[in-house]
Amino acid sequence: MNTLSGKRAVILGLANERSIAWGIAQALHEAGAKLAFNYLGDALEKRVRPLAESLKADIIAPLDVSSDEQIESFFSKVKNTWGGIDILIHSVAFANKEDLQGRFVDTPRAGFKLALDVSAYSLIATSREAAKLMDPAKGGTIVTLTYYGSEKVMPGYNVMGVAKAALETSVKYLANDLGPQKIRVHAISAGPIKTLAAAGGVPNFRDFLSTVEEKAPMRENVSPEDVGSLVAFLCDDRAARMTGSVLYVDSGYHIMGA
Ligand code: NAD
Repeated sequence: MNTLSGKRAVILGLANERSIAWGIAQALHEAGAKLAFNYLGDALEKRVRPLAESLKADIIAPLDVSSDEQIESFFSKVKNTWGGIDILIHSVAFANKEDLQGRFVDTPRAGFKLALDVSAYSLIATSREAAKLMDPAKGGTIVTLTYYGSEKVMPGYNVMGVAKAALETSVKYLANDLGPQKIRVHAISAGPIKTLAAAGGVPNFRDFLSTVEEKAPMRENVSPEDVGSLVAFLCDDRAARMTGSVLYVDSGYHIMGA
């Protein structure tokens, strides 16, 4: 179904074919959207470029979201190519591996700042630039990715849980600020998925996966494609009256109390 035909989507956070951003990119491409991607550094460019080209991306450009200059230059490339955009996907997070290993109480100031900057502030900074390129008559959609560790203690998630809490609250404030421009903002709280960031960063990540298989109402883990289907719906005009929410794609795990 070409429900997003002609819509222009910027996707931030593709690293490889396991990325949640890849599941989202495929769903938006199937729905007819045009795509733009960033990559972080030369090593990831080698992974990202062929994937992006396979979906006929119009723009593939470097962007480290911790740099205001790079954010400005990325979105100015997008403006020069497309004139405007309709969708921003923010699928980006980072914390120092050592800050996810010990006790949360030992988180150093620098590690806290880095995690919050890359994983939460970057949504604010990129939404600001994206909003400038969205047509106020038609509006647009912004979607970010979060995790249940923002609400409940997940051992090993540590400072990233705090960053995700900041991210989810930012979604609400952004939804309120940008609502008058018909821009809708959401977070999707995905269940654990074996990606580069998750498996490489969270020390006991296997336990996260097995807990969902054992305890979630649906007794199975989720995939990037499951997330992609919801994103395609949220970007569709049929979701026009929804904004500011955290929506769960986690096989129902978040409803469990024990
Ligand atoms: P991933 O490693 O495939 O993607 C993370 C992306 O963040 C990478 O593309 C990386 O290049 C990018 N990134 C990190 N620092 C950056 C920076 N300074 N500038 C620009 N990009 C930067 O892993 P993923 O699991 O697909 O992660 C995507 C999002 O989904 C993250 O926000 C993550 O927290 C969230 N999430 C993941 C899971 C999971 O279990 N995998 C569950 C819920 C939410």
